[in-house]
Amino acid sequence: MINLLDYTLEELNNIVVSLGEPKFRGKQLHNAILNGKGYNDNTVLPKSMLAKLQENGYQMQAVKIYKTFKSKDKTIKFLFKLNDDNLIEGVLMNHNYGRTLCVSTQVGCKMNCAFCASGLKFVRNLSAGEILGQIVAANAFVGGTVSEREITNIVLMGSGEPLDNFDNVVKFLRYVTAEDGFNFSVRNITLSTCGIPSKIEKLADLGLSINLAISLHAPNDAVRRTIMPVAKSFPIKSIIEAANHYYMMTNRKIYIEYTLIDGVNSDISQARELADLLRDLNCRVNLITLNDVKERGLKGVNASKTNSFMRELLKCGITATIRRSLGDDVDGACGQLRNKELSGEKSSFEVKADSIKFDKKPRNKASNTDSRNDRKHSSDNSKFKADKKSSFDKKSSRENSRSTRKLDATKKQSRPSKKASSSKYISKKQYR
Ligand code: SAH
Repeated sequence: MINLLDYTLEELNNIVVSLGEPKFRGKQLHNAILNGKGYNDNTVLPKSMLAKLQENGYQMQAVKIYKTFKSKDKTIKFLFKLNDDNLIEGVLMNHNYGRTLCVSTQVGCKMNCAFCASGLKFVRNLSAGEILGQIVAANAFVGGTVSEREITNIVLMGSGEPLDNFDNVVKFLRYVTAEDGFNFSVRNITLSTCGIPSKIEKLADLGLSINLAISLHAPNDAVRRTIMPVAKSFPIKSIIEAANHYYMMTNRKIYIEYTLIDGVNSDISQARELADLLRDLNCRVNLITLNDVKERGLKGVNASKTNSFMRELLKCGITATIRRSLGDDVDGACGQLRNKELSGEKSSFEVKADSIKFDKKPRNKASNTDSRNDRKHSSDNSKFKADKKSSFDKKSSRENSRSTRKLDATKKQSRPSKKASSSKYISKKQYR
């Protein structure tokens, strides 16, 4: 089976020509597969051409929605089925600014983090087309098309370690930001990693400028090693150096992901230690409530402890927010749903796809000029790179002023505006 989503428009043109069809059919085929169409769906493509593609082993829909689950907060969780019958997960979250799809990059994961269910079994990497296929399937599911997409943001935070599947992930990023395709803005894409310094630097040097989130989860190496085996290979210091390089190259604030685990990393003294660690990094800490993973025996902390931890970070001048947990009633954490499916456990939240109702149009329609705007910004960014040396020189003076700015941020955060309170992140007051 050959996944047609693994090809660029130019490559599709070559494929159709090699099958004796005119070149313009390549564009039509590209449109059809990005709109999630299969061989039995209505398209402008001639039946004879579709038959030839099928005979040659090409597949139009390499990622199919296998099951859907809907949570009380309208988050939709997908179990996708791949060509080889492997299952992966995706989560579609509704926000006031649009819809975010969380995609997987591997079947399972090698990293084996203690709090995460997806590391229980690594099977294989996903191809670029299989990562893209999750966007295609979910977008079509909520009534979107390639030119009028219903998905506005992408987070690579599902099962798998994206930087452990570097080439396919980069290829996927190029596909999904292509002007002749979905045309996503790099600003609306976030990659989350357990922190592989050499790969973070490599990504920085590619100039893609997506948002980078680092799953830190510990205030020092000793604690990190107890919950994240990858910490044995890479000390936090080297991750922060790489993150600083990422910031210097892309001008993007780094997100630090920190899941609060009872008795492990959630003590107030550990908030102070974390603040010290992050003092020289332009970052924001996202505090995440742990979705208990039965198999691992780890417990999250309550809202009051989460608030105290955040307050301590703010007091120390570190920008911090509590990430609203969406879809936790449908096993929102990585790998949980797939594990249940594999073990035959049923979820009471499974629903028939056609019984799910949604507002067709999110409040902010995805703009088809998204990535064009990025290109404009990225030329500003090359100027930024050219100025890099001088910005390094300026860095220390900027850092001196940073503590003042962070104090300002602290002030702002303690009095959340109406706008901030309706964002993805909720203030401590709203957090229950
Ligand atoms: N390998 C990547 C991406 C997958 S995990 C990474 O390490 O970042 C993405 C995020 O999901 C992690 O930051 C982690 O905080 C979160 N996560 C995993 N298991 C979780 C759980 N049981 N409860 C809450 N968050 C979890």
